[in-house]
Amino acid sequence: MTGMSASTTSTSDSFDALVIRESDADDGGRTVGIERLTDADLPDGDVTVGIEYSSLNYKDGMALTGTGRIIRTFPMVPGVDLVGTVIASDSERFEVGDSVISTGWGAGERFWGGYSQRQRVRSDWLVARPDGLSSRQAMAIGTAGLTAMLCVMGLEDGGVEPGDGPIIVTGAAGGVGSVAVALLSNLGYEVTAVTGRPEQHEYLRALGASNLLSRSEMSEAPRPLESETWAGAVDTVGSTMLAKVLAQTKYGGVVAACGLAGGTDLPTTVMPFILRGVRLQGVESVITPLDIRTAAWARLATDLPLALLETMTEVVPMSELLDRGPAILAGQVRGRVVVDPNA
Ligand code: NDP
Repeated sequence: MTGMSASTTSTSDSFDALVIRESDADDGGRTVGIERLTDADLPDGDVTVGIEYSSLNYKDGMALTGTGRIIRTFPMVPGVDLVGTVIASDSERFEVGDSVISTGWGAGERFWGGYSQRQRVRSDWLVARPDGLSSRQAMAIGTAGLTAMLCVMGLEDGGVEPGDGPIIVTGAAGGVGSVAVALLSNLGYEVTAVTGRPEQHEYLRALGASNLLSRSEMSEAPRPLESETWAGAVDTVGSTMLAKVLAQTKYGGVVAACGLAGGTDLPTTVMPFILRGVRLQGVESVITPLDIRTAAWARLATDLPLALLETMTEVVPMSELLDRGPAILAGQVRGRVVVDPNA
């Protein structure tokens, strides 16, 4: 549906988008390529956005590679995140020229997402880009950074304060992990970073980690309780590493669990919960209500040092996504990848 818009700006009718199609052959195969689309191809929605940047998240890697049946409907324009300028709006909340961000809400899974020069979306997905963050910085943050902020807010809600002891961040050199290390250290927490990549130790120290642990030592099966070490945790890995973190969390500590990079299982016991009052705080960013995500973006604009954000960011053209999708699933991406659909 193109529809008449309450406010529009004139733009060329055609644009580039990365499209994943199911191939005609009956082999479950897919084709992935950059195609020239028109506004008539776009889905329903009350706001059309001229996209400036998108980003690469773990889930985008799954969509690009066909892992885990992330994509529910074809053809699909993937891309969980987008930032851009409103070019047509039937919404009372947004006008032409407004700068807006969308993250999550099933974009790139059930709805068309940000790997395009233009997209039509629902206004209730959108937050205004906060003052103090450029479009590029907003996508350097993206879903991964928003999730890191929600994890930090989860620790704060649980009463964890900088003086309480160290915070452990797992999968630290990845997107969520990198933003979490930078945020926590800037807020005055002592941060221990867990990484499987020793070559990223300098990078993690520069983001603010004061201690480093190897992935292998944190992947050993834990005893039900181990020495009380962490006041809190941001876990992006799950599985045995999350169980290890729980077994080492101090009395009353909070573990914010958001990821599954190491697996979806959780081989733990109830001991950390019933003997130490440890709190396991689940964190999800996809359907987080608008008031919480607006608050999280405002916090990101003030609490994340932008010079550090720059050191964790690389910008790539949309055409590079076919290489980067498998790389993020293989744990080979450092920090955040911003996608420029106009390059
Ligand atoms: P990245 O790939 O950028 O980061 C994941 C990191 O985990 C890797 O860089 C690596 O860090 C580590 N890792 C990878 N494989 C393994 C493994 N087998 N065992 C242990 N550690 C491993 O992804 P993101 O930061 O974008 O996302 C991280 C996780 O959070 C993903 O599982 C993702 O699905 C989830 N997520 C959840 C969200 C939510 O709403 N709950 C939102 C966003 C992400 P290192 O090299 O330092 O060891």
